[in-house]
Order: sequence, then C-alpha cells, then structure tokens
Amino acid sequence: MEINSVAVIGAGTMGAGIAQICAQSGWKTNLFDAYPEGLEKGLKAIDTFWDKGIARGKTTPEQKTEWSANLHQFTDLKMAVEDVDMVIEAVPEIMELKCSIFESLGNMTRNDCILGTNTSSLSIAEIANASGRPKKVIGMHFFNPVPIMKLLELVKHDNCSKDTISAAQMAGDKMGKTTILVNDVPGFATSRLGVVLGNEAIRMLADGVASAKDIDTAMVLGYKHPMGPLALTDLVGLDVRRDILLNLKQSFNDDSYTPHPLLEKLVSEGRLGKKTGMGIYDWSSGSAEETDLPK
Ligand code: NAD
Repeated sequence: MEINSVAVIGAGTMGAGIAQICAQSGWKTNLFDAYPEGLEKGLKAIDTFWDKGIARGKTTPEQKTEWSANLHQFTDLKMAVEDVDMVIEAVPEIMELKCSIFESLGNMTRNDCILGTNTSSLSIAEIANASGRPKKVIGMHFFNPVPIMKLLELVKHDNCSKDTISAAQMAGDKMGKTTILVNDVPGFATSRLGVVLGNEAIRMLADGVASAKDIDTAMVLGYKHPMGPLALTDLVGLDVRRDILLNLKQSFNDDSYTPHPLLEKLVSEGRLGKKTGMGIYDWSSGSAEETDLPK
C-alpha cells in the first residue's frame, strides 16, 4: 500500500519531528495535539528547523513553502485521522493513554489505514489489541532529533500482518530512514540499553565519581559514542527515560530498572532536560553547561 497522507498524534519533541519529515516526504500531513499550546510549540519547532536550514544553505525558501503547504494542524482527532493512509502516534509513554487513543483510532480511521506507535518501550501487542484492528498496528520507533537520526526501529507483534510491515518499511525508506525489524520485547533493541546506560551514569554522578561533563567525555572519547549518556538523557527528556525505566521494571519484574532517586528528583522539580532548558545540565545558553544538582 502506498502512503500519500499521514496523521501524527502528539506534537511534542517526537511528534513535531515526525510530522516534519512526513511533510518533507511530500505527504499530506495532519498534526494533532490534545493541547493548543502543544500544537503551537510543535509547529514552531518545525518552522525554526526549516529557517535554520535556509540560513545554513541546506534548505531553499521554495522547499520550505512546499513542505509547509503539506502540513495541516488539527485540534479534532477524528478530522485529523479519518481519511489518511497512516497514523503515527507520539503521545507520552503511558499505556492507558496510548490504548485509549488506539481504541479511538480503530473506530475513526479507514480499515486499510496503517497505525504506527512511536512508543519506546511499551507492549505493541497490547496497544494493537486496543485498536480492535491489530493486523494494521506496528511499532514505529523514531529517534531524537527525528529529522537527523537515520534509524527507524520497526517493532512487530504476533498479529502484525506482512503487508503492514512492508508498508511501514516502504514509508521508512521514503522518509530517508534505515529500518530494522525487531520483535515485541520490552525496550526493543534500543531503549533497554539506552536507559540502563543513562540511569547508571546518573548513579555515578550522584555517587560523585566525576562531573557530568567528565562522565560524558569518558564515553565520547573512550568509547566513541557521539554524545555522552547524561547529555543524551537531557536530549531525550528525563521524564521520558524515567517512564521507560518504570515500564521495563514492571514488564521484567526486575528492580534493577528502578529510576535512580536523582532522576526522580530532577523530574519532580520540572528539570526535564533540554526541552525545559534545565535537566542534568543547564541548556539556557543553547549548549550543555554544568549546574548544581539537587541533594
Ligand atoms: P513530549 O512530552 O515531548 O510530547 C508529547 C505530546 O503529546 C505533547 O505535545 C502533549 O501535549 C501531547 N499529548 C498529550 N496527551 C495527548 C493526547 N491525549 N492526544 C494528543 N496529544 C497528546 O513527548 P515525546 O518525547 O515526544 O515522546 C512521545 C513518545 O515518543 C513517547 O512514547 C516516547 O517514549 C517516544 N519517544 C521519545 C523519544 C525522545 O527522545 N523524546 C525518542 C523515541 C521515542
């Protein structure tokens, strides 16, 4: 099935990026968020990305005009999804929320519509069953920042049809991503390792092993990681990583996935990372600066 139109649910860090690359792929792209301020923030992030591209000579003003014309904002879920070929959901990592959205999507979308979820760690099968149309549901796990990161991790569950997998693979190709196909195991092939590394780095920071910058530099120069685990945790969002750890802890019934108390403290203080200007680092200058951490 060829994709020509897409609806993206949730205009946050990931949804905005996904909507951006869908619009750039030439698809009619409907962006929906339950909150007007969320929608506004997402659209502004896309606009800023394109403007920076123009300033750097990577994007032409004509391209921006063409891509912008593909992008449509919606405050009504049904209107956003009722006639599209594919929906990609990117709302917060909460099973009840995702299931209730997929239940609505099962009723509101066309029978042939592909339903993708950008969950980082939740059971795809459970989300798929909530839709009442599990054959059409697949995990479509993008990486942050979506317009730059090449990987698209596709996650198949037992009732996912071959046609759905090929449609998602073709959509990924069109978006310029390299797809990998992974089974529906909590944390998939990426998130499980990523959050464990981030949580351990936070434990080391709290234990006074070294400064945040030095822990990050250890992994960048010692292990050739493109970014240190603490800066990456700030980029992903501390709340997002805390939620993934909690989901893994519950799914595997294993306390080793318990979020470190410092991570919980930062989240409770609203220090969610780059998106709020403060996380493990202070991002107010635009780059990561060391700052005091709560006791
Ligand atoms: P976010 O908090 O930045 O954005 C979530 C958006 O969803 C917000 O704009 C919010 O207003 C909106 N929202 C909340 N409830 C809604 C509803 N009922 N209907 C529609 N919109 C609603 O979160 P995010 O970082 O973009 O994460 C979204 C999903 O992507 C999560 O499942 C997360 O695990 C996954 N993910 C995140 C990253 C990352 O690096 N942040 C990477 C890969 C996957």
